[in-house]
Amino acid sequence: MRFNQSDRLKKLPVYLFAEIDKLKSQVKARGVDIISFGIGDPDLPTPEAIVEVLKKESEIAVNQKYPSYEGLLKFRESVSNWYNKRFNVSLDPETEVLSLIGSKEGIGHLPLAFVNPGDVVLIPDPGYPVYRAGTIFAGGIPYIMPLKEENDFLPDFSDIPEDILKKAKLMFLNYPNNPTSAVADRHFFNEVVKFAKKNKIIVAHDFAYSEVYTGEKGNDSFLEANGAKEIGIEFHSLSKTFNMTGFRIGFAAGNEEIINGLGAVKTNLDSGVFQAIQLAGAYGLDNELKAVEDNNKIYKKRRELLVGGLEKLGYKVYKSDATFYVWTHVPKANMTSKEFAVSLLNETGIIVTPGSGFGGYGEGYIRFSLTISENRIKEALVRMGG
Ligand SMILES: *Cc1c(COP(=O)(O)O)cnc(C)c1O
Repeated sequence: MRFNQSDRLKKLPVYLFAEIDKLKSQVKARGVDIISFGIGDPDLPTPEAIVEVLKKESEIAVNQKYPSYEGLLKFRESVSNWYNKRFNVSLDPETEVLSLIGSKEGIGHLPLAFVNPGDVVLIPDPGYPVYRAGTIFAGGIPYIMPLKEENDFLPDFSDIPEDILKKAKLMFLNYPNNPTSAVADRHFFNEVVKFAKKNKIIVAHDFAYSEVYTGEKGNDSFLEANGAKEIGIEFHSLSKTFNMTGFRIGFAAGNEEIINGLGAVKTNLDSGVFQAIQLAGAYGLDNELKAVEDNNKIYKKRRELLVGGLEKLGYKVYKSDATFYVWTHVPKANMTSKEFAVSLLNETGIIVTPGSGFGGYGEGYIRFSLTISENRIKEALVRMGG
């Protein structure tokens, strides 16, 4: 029997990494030791104490039941306390925080709450593919905001035509940015709030890398901007902060009405986050910020090693202190990012992610993840130089 997939599935962009995945298997079959800079999943372990809380709490009967839809109040209070300490932003844990089964889930579901068929959603390019997928699933029309190096990979709102602004309901932003590693400061977020209020566009700021930085100063939160809570929410993840990608826990914080809308969608589709995981996450936010510092020291060393080595090899690297990504120009002028990634894998067994996989404006760049050890980075640099 043949089943026709829905139009919404057919509208998704083709999976650009399929060819590289296939080639990877072939190269591996030749016996080559693959070094992958392609993985956006921390190699460092979840802090032990967090895992202990999960173990203990999973044995308690009440935690084995359906959780509450909006999340345990204890988790939401920990979020609120952490926001206060970290950003000096106050959030009502009862109404302005929502637990998520990972932030990807919330990002993908948000358009279902506020976007009607034909409405426009502003999405950054290059960008995390879920903004587009969530938009398409809701029947919305993605409108690309190009992120260009000459603007430090920040969107230029003055480029967006008036008729698009009239139809735009929602805008996704993501800083520190995946894949470019670019950051945004409070000044930019103040501009975002002004622009969004003027045009009545909901802002959804994806802050997955909030705690991943190697510079002196932590990253700014969108919710620190004047009036941000009137127009937007911020998505957070414990995945990158505490190396908890497998646990599936994140949260949304900010405007009560927007949080409510997202919550209403979720009530109809899922049944919340396993309570033992929420308690483990709350423990992390309350007690494990030292682990975050230790991670960042490791990323800093890896970043310095890789960036220094790439520059010696003639790569033009975009300089940043945030995320665990290194974003660089394709070093060969006559090759697309995909062609370069394919030839690098074939010749050296090294995997990098072609920028075009994140959208058309990612063409000309490749992304390295700093999720492998210094020794492997050194080995890769030797291979690339040889
Ligand atoms: C990793 C990542 C997320 C999602 O993380 P979850 O594990 O779903 O919480 C969201 N946005 C970006 C840009 C990411 O890189």
